[in-house]
Amino acid sequence: MANKDDKWENNVPGKFYVDQQCIDCDLCRETAPGFFTRHDDGGHSYVFKQPTTQEEIDQCMEALEGCPVEAIGSDGDDGAADSQSQASATPQATGEARS
Ligand code: SF4
Repeated sequence: MANKDDKWENNVPGKFYVDQQCIDCDLCRETAPGFFTRHDDGGHSYVFKQPTTQEEIDQCMEALEGCPVEAIGSDGDDGAADSQSQASATPQATGEARS
């Protein structure tokens, strides 16, 4: 299982990350190319974008489950990423207060 204390610093904050066990096998980048990319100097993958829709999350979970060395984690900064606010928080500000 991946360890968030060992994750590469290149990962964007959020739920998914790649840790230092990555052997640069390319599988996650093929499975979920919209979220995983290669650090060319470091020779490993990292998460450059966090998924937001369920479909995107499923794609990242598929990459996680496919990783041969379990270097992908999904227990990162869940919900704490202020740069990635998941658009669903304030349904009430939609016109009730019109005068
Ligand atoms: S699938 Fe796992 S080992 Fe392969 S590149 Fe992605 S994180 Fe690294």
